[in-house]
Amino acid sequence: MTTDTAMLDFTIVPSTTPMAESDRLRAFDNLGFGTLFTDHMAVVQWDADKGWHHAEIKARAPFQIDPAASVLHYAQEIFEGMKAYKAQDGRITLFRPEENARRFNKSAIRMAMPEVPEELFLKAVAELVKIDSKWVPEGEGSLYLRPFMFATEAFLGVRPSRQYIFCVIASPVGPYFKGGSKPVTLWVSEHYTRAAPGGTGAAKCGGNYAASLLAQSEATSRGCDQVVFLDAAEHKWVEELGGMNVFFVMDDGTVVTPPLSGTILPGITRGSIIQLATENGLKVIERPYSFEEWANDARSGKLREAFACGTAAVVAAIGTVRHSGGEFVIGNAGTGMETEKLRNQLTGIQRGTVADGHGWVKDVASL
Ligand SMILES: *Cc1c(COP(=O)(O)O)cnc(C)c1O
Repeated sequence: MTTDTAMLDFTIVPSTTPMAESDRLRAFDNLGFGTLFTDHMAVVQWDADKGWHHAEIKARAPFQIDPAASVLHYAQEIFEGMKAYKAQDGRITLFRPEENARRFNKSAIRMAMPEVPEELFLKAVAELVKIDSKWVPEGEGSLYLRPFMFATEAFLGVRPSRQYIFCVIASPVGPYFKGGSKPVTLWVSEHYTRAAPGGTGAAKCGGNYAASLLAQSEATSRGCDQVVFLDAAEHKWVEELGGMNVFFVMDDGTVVTPPLSGTILPGITRGSIIQLATENGLKVIERPYSFEEWANDARSGKLREAFACGTAAVVAAIGTVRHSGGEFVIGNAGTGMETEKLRNQLTGIQRGTVADGHGWVKDVASL
């Protein structure tokens, strides 16, 4: 895609009411996930006549949209999730941000929305991180970035909108799960599915999450942290969690993960783990893995470890799996050796304490 460079000129209007330093530092002492937001946001407009235009960095504020805006009726909305880290030397970095830009466009195509040129996506993210750089926590925390796009045309007919807003907001975060790095308990959803062949499972769209929430409530009411979905056609194959991919570590040094068949979100963490595990000498096999096999392998001890992964929680060991017929534990219900090693490697690379042999880490100042 050719990029009109004028489009990349962000008008920067700093907030006149930024949060007081003392309030921000107090909030940093008790970071949750996605509850605290920075002072600014990036906003870019698109319409069918002008394309992308009017790029701004400005004070974070509510949008005013028409009650007939198509996103409110037909859910044309996509998003990304990525993190900025403060390295020990003070640099602020992003992990494989161009992968987020590419995936955002794949999601856009699936939802009949306009693509955001990669340079524009990266510039919006980088400019926001620069102006809100004091919001990037040190140590364990990070600045979670949420690029998203939604349809704003006031029109109730059913067709793709002719107007969109692309926006990036940022939220300083601590650990995703309240238990920190404690292994999670999963609930296997036997009724509900997340994505069907030919559907939108591989797109990062709000609608997929809307469809997963009832299943997630069921998981919570059963005392579980997260729901794990089976495939829609046979209710047999393990797919993924509501927002994380899954891996299974076997006693013979193989690692199994469900293949990207169109119903699974192609996680950037997933791709990175496949590469790191392979370099660690494990044999990664992308193949369908059934729930029945999972339960049998856990009981026989063939399955040593299992974990879920994604940007928000990074790598979370799966300790217990609960379903309508009972439950089983994996290994000793703790965090397995390979899981721990992969988590440390990945978080180390992201935080700049482990050498980045892949060119995955990008300095925000260079974008
Ligand atoms: C975002 C997401 C993931 C994880 O992707 P990452 O790029 O690793 O953050 C996994 N599954 C779903 C459904 C997601 O939305």
